[in-house]
Amino acid sequence: MNRKDFIKATLLTSLTGAAMKLNALNKIVEHYDETDKMPVLFVGHGRPMNAIEDNVFSREMKQMGKNVPKPKAILMVSAHWETKGTFVTAQEKPSTIHDFGGFPEELFQTQYPAPGSKWLAEETKLTVKKTVIGLDETWGFDHGCWSVTKNMFPQATIPIIQLSLDYTKPAHYHYELAQQLASLRKKGVLIIGSGNMVHNLGMISMRSADFNAPFGHDWAIEANEIFKKHILTNEHQPLINYSSLGKAVALSIPTPEHYLPLIYILALKEEKENLTLLSDILVGGSISMTSVKIG
Ligand code: ZN
Repeated sequence: MNRKDFIKATLLTSLTGAAMKLNALNKIVEHYDETDKMPVLFVGHGRPMNAIEDNVFSREMKQMGKNVPKPKAILMVSAHWETKGTFVTAQEKPSTIHDFGGFPEELFQTQYPAPGSKWLAEETKLTVKKTVIGLDETWGFDHGCWSVTKNMFPQATIPIIQLSLDYTKPAHYHYELAQQLASLRKKGVLIIGSGNMVHNLGMISMRSADFNAPFGHDWAIEANEIFKKHILTNEHQPLINYSSLGKAVALSIPTPEHYLPLIYILALKEEKENLTLLSDILVGGSISMTSVKIG
């Protein structure tokens, strides 16, 4: 019996009869800090259009939202927020940032009005001892965040904060920082990394009018297989030292921002935890949509 259930059972035996109904008990327990350990997710976000299109990837994201326990809050590590130093968003009403160009007006009109969470911003700052985390009042939700959460949690009622990527730091720094976030999983926080493990915009090529038709360059397929092999065997060191993984991987990570959110998620995996791959498809030749669910 976990701690939450223990509290429920204790209350049930001490408060007898009909005076205390189960939903009232649930209300008390909701305010208790400790929850069952939340899963962690790495989501391949791909094109911003996945936010509003009905396609194989948006449907998979919707399913992911249904397959996780309802979070109290979300901590999002998006490829699209890079800073010098590490920050979390700390405003109460984050704006929806349309940080892209060349897409239909409908996408620019799309809003994701989820609240922020001062509580989680402060909690993250307190939890991470390795570095000083700054509180940011300017960044909202970039499309790496909302193109995923809009599918997973369309009602936009769950509070979200973003954690930035310090572009001055190597992968092992991000891995060690992420390990310190582990305790948040037992506070009802869903930690999501949003990027693409193979991501080279300069080498995108289209085989058909449908961008999402499966297609990967040979090197992109090779790199994706290398990543999956290490992910599935819990070998994180080669993934942290990715510059030693050869030419295919070098082509897949011309810059690290879409890859690093994966490192955050792997750092949170406990040895015996289940790991599942989802949306394991390459598109546009050089983008892997492969996603990871842990727990
Ligand atoms: Zn992106």
